[in-house]
Amino acid sequence: MTVKVRFAPSPTGPLHIGGARSALFNYLFAAGRGGTFVFRIEDTDLERSSRESEQDIMKALHWLGITWDEGIDAGGDSGPYRQTERLDTYQHYTEKLMQSGQAYYCYCSEAELEQERQELSARGETPRYLGKCRHLTPDQRLAYEAEGRKPVVRFKVPEGQDIVINDLVRGKVVFESDGIGDYIIVKSDGIPTYNYAVVIDDVLMHITHVVRGEEHLSNTPRQVLIYEALGMKAPDFAHISLILNTEGRKMSKRDGDTAVMDYYHKGYLPEAVVNFIALMGWSPSGEQEFFTMEELKQAFSLEKVSKSPAVFDLNKLNYINAHYLKQKEAADLVELVLPFLRDKGIFPAAVLSESERQWITAFVEAVKEKINCLSEVKDYIHYFVGTEVDDFTEEAEAIMQADTVSAVLDLFASKIRQAEILDMATSKCILKEITKELSLKGKDVFMPVRIALTGQMHGPDLDRIMALLGKDNIYGRLAQTAGRRS
Ligand code: GLU
Repeated sequence: MTVKVRFAPSPTGPLHIGGARSALFNYLFAAGRGGTFVFRIEDTDLERSSRESEQDIMKALHWLGITWDEGIDAGGDSGPYRQTERLDTYQHYTEKLMQSGQAYYCYCSEAELEQERQELSARGETPRYLGKCRHLTPDQRLAYEAEGRKPVVRFKVPEGQDIVINDLVRGKVVFESDGIGDYIIVKSDGIPTYNYAVVIDDVLMHITHVVRGEEHLSNTPRQVLIYEALGMKAPDFAHISLILNTEGRKMSKRDGDTAVMDYYHKGYLPEAVVNFIALMGWSPSGEQEFFTMEELKQAFSLEKVSKSPAVFDLNKLNYINAHYLKQKEAADLVELVLPFLRDKGIFPAAVLSESERQWITAFVEAVKEKINCLSEVKDYIHYFVGTEVDDFTEEAEAIMQADTVSAVLDLFASKIRQAEILDMATSKCILKEITKELSLKGKDVFMPVRIALTGQMHGPDLDRIMALLGKDNIYGRLAQTAGRRS
């Protein structure tokens, strides 16, 4: 059997981590089996759906490197791929269901339905529609129409049936049809509901496996009943677990960023986000932690998707991202780092000069092993740009009181002045020469120089700081430190 899967988001907001995981698992599942991946838009919630969200979702998928063979933008034989463009198709099947007596018009008003729900609740029963309009005569229907009531179409749920779902992740799950109640498949404005349209689309698009979030498990019996009513074979289902936060609660906006593009804006690398998301619920066989997309395609299988909840652990994402950052060439990160520097007012020009590019490359080289994500470069800019020296801590202050400090700083200043170029090699040399010429230990030279230039006792490599600051900033910083010490 050729595998065909789909990712079918409702475009009611940005792509969230959970949605991205569904998309990724579908994509990997198809890719590893020579299958087809369809991208469909389920926009039947007219009020909440927007083209803007659709674009956002696509942007996020593109960023992650998730592509589709069929669907929005890509085209294909089973289009259109936006549900609001398929209304005639749903209508066709609705008529079939009505003709066979498996669906019917319901004219109940919201007030009547509310009353029914309340009565059922009062009796301790599950609120559901009990089928009042199931057997309306043509005259009763006409009377309702004359009142101006617009009907919905309800699906006639068979009584006393066990609906068995052999879920590829969760195993056998059984639902009773009796608790369901006749549900709406077409709203009064003619728009189908999710549980209905999804079935028609999955059938007509020849979807073989539905891989989606666990929150849809309870919808599945409603969908299975429609497949049965239409005499169509249901696909295999795989419901992947909810994503919990590290405290074991359902992940929500309160736990930090839930939208995929938030991670783009924070300077995470897409390969890291993909690697991280893949491991939320899927456990590879061996010890391997880092997977490229190609490796994921080879390794992914639904058998290794866990039933227990996945955990969103930001520390793990940071760990994975730091790994990918270390592996990147600094020059390849220049464009990605640039927005964060521009945010701080550095390099505002639209086009970088060659020397600016070199400076940024060296800057990235100096910090890339220290950061979890690229936005953190902003915490390091102050070491390398401008003439401001951080306030000294007490400990730093004490170090600067040593007898040798003035000699060190004087000699340092004069060597900087004499240097023709100030790169990392000359910077290193200067520091070494000072230790020799003043017969001091390395520490007694490096520490005062570091504090004089940065105010700090720790930080990026001193030779990198010197080379990136350049002579003028160094003079400015030495002057500031001298002012502080006098
Ligand atoms: N439109 C549904 C959602 O965004 C898709 C559910 C499904 O994959 O069937 O949650």
